[in-house]
Amino acid sequence: MSALASAPAGKEIVNLPCEVCGDTCSAPWFRLRYPQYQHPGSFELRRCAGCSLVFNSPRLVDAALAKLYERNYYLFAEAEADAYARVSQLHQDTVARLEALAPRGRILEVGSAKGYMLSLLRDRGWDAQGVELSTHASRFATDRLQVPTFTGTLEHYVEQPALQPFSVAYSTDVIEHVPSPRRFLEAMHHALVPGGLLLIGTPNVAADGIDEFGPHWLGFNPFHIWLFSRDTLARLLDRCGFDLVEAWTFGNLQPQREPQLPVWRRLTRDSLARLGWLGAARALRQHLAGAEPAAALEAHRRAAGARLDAAQPFAQTADGQHPRALACRGDNLVIVARRRADRGAR
Ligand SMILES: [Zn+2]
Repeated sequence: MSALASAPAGKEIVNLPCEVCGDTCSAPWFRLRYPQYQHPGSFELRRCAGCSLVFNSPRLVDAALAKLYERNYYLFAEAEADAYARVSQLHQDTVARLEALAPRGRILEVGSAKGYMLSLLRDRGWDAQGVELSTHASRFATDRLQVPTFTGTLEHYVEQPALQPFSVAYSTDVIEHVPSPRRFLEAMHHALVPGGLLLIGTPNVAADGIDEFGPHWLGFNPFHIWLFSRDTLARLLDRCGFDLVEAWTFGNLQPQREPQLPVWRRLTRDSLARLGWLGAARALRQHLAGAEPAAALEAHRRAAGARLDAAQPFAQTADGQHPRALACRGDNLVIVARRRADRGAR
C-alpha cells in the first residue's frame, strides 16, 4: 500500500491527498483496458486506504481525455425521441423522488446536456435552469427548447455575483467525471439555499454487478475518474456541508429500462458500440436527418411528459423497494442530501 510518486507522460496523479478522507495511501484494485474505445493503454483503479474511495490514478491528462470524448462520447448525437425516452426513464429512477420531497420551485440541473429533462420539469411546474459544459448542447437547450442554460462548469456558474440560490439541485452521471468531486459539491453548497435538497446519481462501486461482470461492468470506462459507494459519497457530502436524507440504487438491466427499442436496433447498436463506430454512426444519422422540426420536438416532449404522468417513481416500485435496492448494491447509486447552513463537516 503506497502513494504513487510520479505519473508517466500524458497522465497525472489524482486524489493525493484523498478528496474524501485526506489519506495519502492507496492500493491498486483493478487494472482495465478499453479496446472498444480504441485506447491502447491500461487504466489503473486504486482504492483509498482510509475510506475505500475508488479512483483512476494516474488518469489521462485533460487534453488526452478531451480527444477520447470527441471520438467516443456520443450522447449528444442521440435522436430526440430516444433522448426523451432515456430522460423520462431517468426521471422515474431518480428525479421523481425530489417531486415527492420538495415543493416545486427553482431547480438546477448540472450536466443538463441538451435540456430534455429541464423541459420536462418546466412542463411539470418547476422553474428550471441548466449548467452544461458543451456549447453545442447548451445552445440546443436555449434555442430549441427555450430552457435557460449556462455554458461552463458549475464552479464557474456559482461565481456569478448575481447568483440566486436554488431550493433543489441535481446532477446525474456527472460527479464521476469531474476533476475534483469535493470542489464540485462545495459549489453545489453555494448554489443551494440552506435546507435545499441535492440529488446526486452516479455509478455504484459497491454494486453486485461488478462480481458478475468484472471488467465489463458498465460503470468501468475511461471517462470515469471517481467511483463512489453510498458510504464514500455520504462522507464527502458531509465534508462539504450536507446531511444524508436517503440513498438507493437501481440496476443497469431492469427489463423496463429500454421499452421502445426493437431487437434489431439493440443488436445493431451493440455491434456498432463494440466496433467503436456508434458515435460516428449516430452523428452521421443526425446529420442526414437534419434538425427535427419544432412540432416533432414538441410531440416527443409531450409523449415523454405523458409517460411521466402515467409512471410510478422507481423508489415506489417493487424493484425500488427490493432489499438489494435499499441496501445500495445495484449498479447506479442515487443519494439525496440536505444542505446545512454551514459548510464544514459535522
Ligand atoms: Zn480516502
